Amino acid sequence: MSENCSHNCSSCSKSCSSRTQESMLKEPHKQSSVKKVIGIVSGKGGVGKSLTTALLAAFAQKQGLSVGIMDADITGPSIPRMFGVKEHATGDENGINTVLSPSGMQLMSMNLLLEEETAPVVWRGPVIAGAVMQFWTDVIWKDVDLLFIDMPPGTGDVPLTVFQSIPIAGIVVVATPQDLVKMVVEKAVNMANMLQIPVLGLVENMSYFECPDCGKKLEIFGRSKAEQIAAEYAIPTIARIPIDPKISEYADAGRIEDYETDALAEIFARIQKTERN
Ligand code: ADP
Repeated sequence: MSENCSHNCSSCSKSCSSRTQESMLKEPHKQSSVKKVIGIVSGKGGVGKSLTTALLAAFAQKQGLSVGIMDADITGPSIPRMFGVKEHATGDENGINTVLSPSGMQLMSMNLLLEEETAPVVWRGPVIAGAVMQFWTDVIWKDVDLLFIDMPPGTGDVPLTVFQSIPIAGIVVVATPQDLVKMVVEKAVNMANMLQIPVLGLVENMSYFECPDCGKKLEIFGRSKAEQIAAEYAIPTIARIPIDPKISEYADAGRIEDYETDALAEIFARIQKTERN
């Protein structure tokens, strides 16, 4: 970066590392207004990334914020199902409209655009990344305070393109105790560092099971490693979500907004304090 960096790449001819990242950012739809974007990432599918996105979004909305969810998990979209949303998104030459969840959150997902919810999306990486880009450039996000992006799993080309193209203020990493191993977290942290995006929180999903009879917390998959790993990578907040049959019951019934939990309160507070640099 130049010594006299003005942080305005459009009026600067210098080629520096900050410039490359900034210049890849895409403009949102001209009628969109999004104050802050947070990415939810995981090393692989099926660990509770969408669940974390849904619970964080619902928590934020209950605090009075205007919330949106972009389901960027194009090949495994599960956000509409969790919110019980079945209608199709509408649009015209001007842009694509979001679909509202029962409580009024703005949602966009591949499943809201497909004729058949069960139709598989068999696209290659660049096409998938292109679709996610359109969720940013062509979808009209109306006065959103916090937009959560349920990212494609992993740290490959697609999430990388998304991270470089959308101004993400911070990420939250989700893992289960079995794969809450250094390598998974390290990859996510390295990607975030490379793009100068802070890792705001670490979620250990399916962390324990609380016995309904005695209230004892049983760490079925072994002792929690969340604190240790968060400390190692200087991740400021952690959350532990238990295995709870009610979660799958609510998710399957499309009523995830009704599931009450404050497990993600600290991560939410950290998100609130973060500004994109
Ligand atoms: P991902 O987005 O990482 O692929 P999901 O959030 O879609 O994973 O979760 C996969 C499935 O596991 C969903 O059916 C979800 O309801 C269920 N699930 C996730 N976390 C829990 C939990 N803590 N307790 C019970 N069921 C869970």
